[in-house]
Amino acid sequence: MGPLKADLLKKELSIFTFSDLLEHFPNRHVDKTSISAITDIHAGTDFIQTAGIIDNIVILGEKRSKRLVAQLRDRTGTIELCWFQGIHWIEKNIHAGKLYLVFGKVAFFNGKAQITHPEIEPWVAETAEGKNFLEPVYPTTEKLKAKGLNGKQIGKLTMALIEMISPKDIPENLPNHILENLILLSRWEAYCFIHFPKNQLEYDKALYRLKFEEFFVAQVKLGLTRLRRHKHSKGAIFEKVGEYFNTFYTKYLPFELTGAQKRVLKEIRTDTGRGIQMNRLLQGDVGSGKTIVALLTMLLAADNGYQSCLMAPTEILATQHFLGLSELLKDMPVNIRLLTGNTKTAARREILSQLAEGSLHMVTGTHALIEDPVVFKNLGLSIIDEQHRFGVAQRAKLWAKAAIHPHVLVMTATPIPRTLAMTAYGDLDYSVMDELPPGRKPITTVHRNEMYRVKVMDFIRSEIDHGRQAYIIFPLIEESEKLDYENLMDGYEHVKAFFPEPKYWISMVHGRQPADIKETNMKRFVKGDTQIMVSTTVIEVGVNVPNASIMVIENAEKFGLSQLHQLRGRVGRGSDKSYCILLTGTKLNNDARERIKTMCSTNDGFKIAEKDLELRGPGDIEGTRQSGALNFKLANIISDKEILEKAKKEAEMLLSKDEELSSAENLILKNYLLHKKGKTVWSKIS
Ligand code: ADP
Ligand code: MG
Repeated sequence: MGPLKADLLKKELSIFTFSDLLEHFPNRHVDKTSISAITDIHAGTDFIQTAGIIDNIVILGEKRSKRLVAQLRDRTGTIELCWFQGIHWIEKNIHAGKLYLVFGKVAFFNGKAQITHPEIEPWVAETAEGKNFLEPVYPTTEKLKAKGLNGKQIGKLTMALIEMISPKDIPENLPNHILENLILLSRWEAYCFIHFPKNQLEYDKALYRLKFEEFFVAQVKLGLTRLRRHKHSKGAIFEKVGEYFNTFYTKYLPFELTGAQKRVLKEIRTDTGRGIQMNRLLQGDVGSGKTIVALLTMLLAADNGYQSCLMAPTEILATQHFLGLSELLKDMPVNIRLLTGNTKTAARREILSQLAEGSLHMVTGTHALIEDPVVFKNLGLSIIDEQHRFGVAQRAKLWAKAAIHPHVLVMTATPIPRTLAMTAYGDLDYSVMDELPPGRKPITTVHRNEMYRVKVMDFIRSEIDHGRQAYIIFPLIEESEKLDYENLMDGYEHVKAFFPEPKYWISMVHGRQPADIKETNMKRFVKGDTQIMVSTTVIEVGVNVPNASIMVIENAEKFGLSQLHQLRGRVGRGSDKSYCILLTGTKLNNDARERIKTMCSTNDGFKIAEKDLELRGPGDIEGTRQSGALNFKLANIISDKEILEKAKKEAEMLLSKDEELSSAENLILKNYLLHKKGKTVWSKIS
């Protein structure tokens, strides 16, 4: 290949080396023997491959609607082909009266079938017969196409490459027993067949082998990281359960712990007692009672002479944690303080000096806690609440706060689907709280469109008149903060018209308020001085007002599933029957409809998380992108769930027998891992 094309391949597709080219996988294969008749195209047709004579090439329209249109005709009928870009190139290279093979997505305009930007090439019917494989078509770009590297021409390069190399160039990396047990193709075969399969079965086998390999290698790496940490990273030893824990547990714990809470505490105790740094992810649904688990763990730290901190993503939540924990600890000789960006200078100075000299047992706060001037005497435990809001870099800062890395307990905001937990967080130890405290009544969720707003307000009024409280949430929808603010103010005025003072009082909280105003408004609602909380999503996570039993979400179609679930989790915390009302416009797109339907049909955060992953795909899930754990080329954690489970099982079995990968059979895997480019550092992503 000449330097010009080579350069373009680098720029456009990041193909620098032979192995890059080999790993540029086809996105489909063309079976030249399977050509649809044009007459067979019907309303449900998606992609088709067809062949015929081109006719009537014309350029229509002006400016943005300028397009080149041509007819493709076979013996059975005609279909329209249409190009908006590259018109001149097409005009020059497509000739009326000649035979072409065409592939593309069929769409219908005014009942007429059309393919926009089809793949097109001259078709010589005879050559089709000689071919005994499926012809690969590769992802490419417009620039490459213009330089003669379309989806099929890249295949010619790949073919030439494969002819040049031999099995020793693509050595096996999986241990033999796995190949045998799972009946997998060898690595060499898999690479040959994924590009040039003779038939569908061969392709499927190649794809399976390579997907398995991707998952398996990732799982082995994660497993090794976890093992290495268990071996080498020292942690503070919380060996005894002492005065603080026991006194609190027997005298001040306001309720019996659920089975799940007890189990998780036991897991944490085991983890923190053996001298290894704990790095644990605690998954629990909204309202499952993670806070009390956090507090008990902090008391355990105090019993062993260590300080602990509890970090929350927002000021409101940090403050609420502080108030809640202080209340629980009010008769205990435990020193706990709040440190946020808004802590006044004098108080801050005092807190910092208490932290440094060791007289402060616990501190709750926002990310202000991990800023440089904060020095602990002996930090033994960091708890990060509602984890997905904390960046990896911020978390890494935390490690530097103590000579021995503090134990880390990350508490999730909403459950993470199992497959995601296995991949993105697979190097962490992992606890699940899948039980809600007793006595919770399930929340009834309904969907209403705007036409019902008056009725909804009437309903809220009757609930308020029975002593309950309500949240009304407005989304952040506009690009500009100003418009969002206006939107919220409009909403506020609207609500106020329904609920006039002095019979009713309304709190309003939003991101633009100064912290003290926010706090005052929040507190009034917590105390019951106001019956309605109008707010943006700043109250999304963690906020706990048990008397609030109604959650109204305006423009619910604008929210993601996990956000909706979080918001709904603000109610159903007391003993009253609770409601969540999703208000939307009258027109909803499919995704929005699916989300609303899911919300109305289940309260189970784990189910909702699965659905969310399914609708959004893994790339979008917050906090996982930067971990690099989801960069699979072929495998997909949603549709290839079963392969992932299998790979995980095999990886665990392998490591349990040979964690050094030193047996003769496992050496090839070890060498592969050592030489694989682009090493990922997992261990510090807590
Ligand atoms: P989340 O897991 O969402 O952080 P919280 O820790 O805020 O949940 O707990 C939600 C509510 O449940 C709080 O009011 C808390 O006091 C209460 N709670 C927690 N554990 C129990 C329990 N074992 N029995 C009864 N109520 C509990
Ligand atoms: Mg919480």
